[in-house]
Amino acid sequence: MSYDDTNIFAKILRGELPAHRVYEDEATVAFMDLMPQGPGHTLVLPKAPSRNLLDADPAIFGALFATVQKLARAVKVAFNADGVVVMQFNEPASGQTVYHLHVHVIPRFEGVPLKPHSGEMEKPEVLAANAEKIKAALARG
Ligand code: AMP
Repeated sequence: MSYDDTNIFAKILRGELPAHRVYEDEATVAFMDLMPQGPGHTLVLPKAPSRNLLDADPAIFGALFATVQKLARAVKVAFNADGVVVMQFNEPASGQTVYHLHVHVIPRFEGVPLKPHSGEMEKPEVLAANAEKIKAALARG
C-alpha cells in the first residue's frame, strides 16, 4: 500500500484539521491523542510522509526518536508518572488505524491499566489542559 495524503494526520500536519499540539521542530510534530489510553497520551510524528515504520526512510528515525525521548521525559514529569510506554503499530492487523507514521507516548502508573486503543474521545478542555502541562514540562527542560 502507498501513502495516502488524505489521512487525518496529514491534514493535521498541513493545518487543515485542529490538534492540541505540544511540540514542533523542523522534522517532527507532537500532539495529544484524541482518544487517549491514559492522561497525557501523546503522538509523535515525522513530517516526512510514510504510511508507517515499514516504508519510512530510516534517515528520519534519529529526529523522530529524539522527539519521542523529549516527550517521554516531559510526560513523565508533567503527570508524575511511574513509567512511560512507547508504542507504534504497522498495518491494520497490528492495530494501526491512521496511516501516517506515528509513535504513541503514554505515561503509566503502577497498578493502573491502559484504556482501550482508539476508545473514548476525551473532552477538548481536558486535552487542552494536559497539553499545557506537557508544554510547561518541555519548557522546563
Ligand atoms: P494507530 O492505531 O496507531 O494508527 O493510532 C491512531 C491514534 O490516533 C489512536 O490512538 C487515535 O485515538 C488517535 N486519533 C485518531 N484521530 C485523531 C485526531 N484527529 N487527533 C488526534 N489523535 C487522533
